[in-house]
Amino acid sequence: MALIVQKYGGTSVGSVDRIENVAKKVIGYRGQGHDVVVVVSAMSGETDRLIGLAKAIDPRPNPRELDVLISTGEQVTIALLCMALEKHGQPARSYTGAQVRILTDSAFTKARILAIDGENIRSDLAQGRVVVVAGFQGVDEDNNITTLGRGGSDTTGVALAAALKADECQIFTDVDGVYTTDPRIEPRARRLDRITFEEMLEMASLGSKVLQIRSVEFAGKYNVPLRVLSTFQEGNGTLITLEDENMEAALISGIAFSKDEAQITVTGVPDRPGIAFGILGAVSDANIEVDMIVQNIGRDGTTDFTFTVHRNDFERALEIVQGKAVELGAREINGDRKIVKVSLVGVGMRSHAGIASRMFQALAREGINIRMISTSEIKISVVIDEKYLELGVRTLHEAFQLDQAPAA
Ligand code: ADP
Ligand code: ASP
Ligand code: MG
Repeated sequence: MALIVQKYGGTSVGSVDRIENVAKKVIGYRGQGHDVVVVVSAMSGETDRLIGLAKAIDPRPNPRELDVLISTGEQVTIALLCMALEKHGQPARSYTGAQVRILTDSAFTKARILAIDGENIRSDLAQGRVVVVAGFQGVDEDNNITTLGRGGSDTTGVALAAALKADECQIFTDVDGVYTTDPRIEPRARRLDRITFEEMLEMASLGSKVLQIRSVEFAGKYNVPLRVLSTFQEGNGTLITLEDENMEAALISGIAFSKDEAQITVTGVPDRPGIAFGILGAVSDANIEVDMIVQNIGRDGTTDFTFTVHRNDFERALEIVQGKAVELGAREINGDRKIVKVSLVGVGMRSHAGIASRMFQALAREGINIRMISTSEIKISVVIDEKYLELGVRTLHEAFQLDQAPAA
């Protein structure tokens, strides 16, 4: 007998029928003798709908009130799932984040979990109940409701699994595992049996939204066995694990991409110390995160400086830099929101040279211009025009033969 934490995403609880289906699955696991804690998301589309209501009142709504609003979606699904479980004779009890007491910091809309009180849950499990917890939410020290950022129910699931020392955390979703790339973009994408925490973390942070980044961080830190599976079909899914010798001998594990990028270029600034700070200092003072940065080699005493930010921060960042144009002595400032970042991820890169050149050659053959490049030990990212996203991903998938399992 094991303790399993299962998280069901928005599509998996997207209708009353689907909630009943989840109840049946949970009862099936109980029938095998397992203790089950379930975390659910809001019904698909609900969080977006709630955000839309808030924005209809104020484009930049008060963050505390926004969290009060958007946490309601998950309160609906915990109650409905418990009703369905009870109807079929399975005792169950629902808890909001505050009721469990999932303590977070006070960063509304992007709060971090600090501590979880597992007492109620343990006592319910001991009495044979299934415990159903609202994902994506918590409460701060002053009892304000907080939310954990989009996709945050994954993190609730993993954090609960860590706190309860569960045997496994299972993320049930609308795909049957983690693929070499998003199967919606590349139908030839292949499901991975296993992927390392390190690679999954890179994939998530470079844009693969199948798991929220923080859930992977948590799982790695507390060594929670984490599995991604389909709600709608049987299978073993993908296990996210520590690296070991039996892993597939792949050079590249996957391709991540992000459409959430925008680029700002400052042209003709004097090439002297302090320019990078002059531009980026003001941007980071506004709490805007800068991703990639490129400064050209200076010519005639001037240089060009390009950086990327999240698309949501684009207007503000552009305004800030434009406001500094005179002070910086810049000739021109341009912005472009029609760019994307495509990244190759794989621990195999550590021991193999030539991956970057193969990547650049494949893109060049399709006439895809690379605007920016950034690398780390296990990833190479390029910024390209948005219109080339699908072509770029498919080209790289093909060039690195990701549709085929690597030879062992
Ligand atoms: P849920 O609502 O269950 O949390 P999400 O929409 O957050 O589901 O995540 C599942 C989706 O992630 C899939 O439908 C798929 O389109 C997308 N996705 C992106 N990259 C990948 C990948 N590498 N492998 C699998 N799915 C991916
Ligand atoms: N409902 C939240 C969202 O849509 C949290 C989640 O589904 O993980 O982002
Ligand atoms: Mg999700």
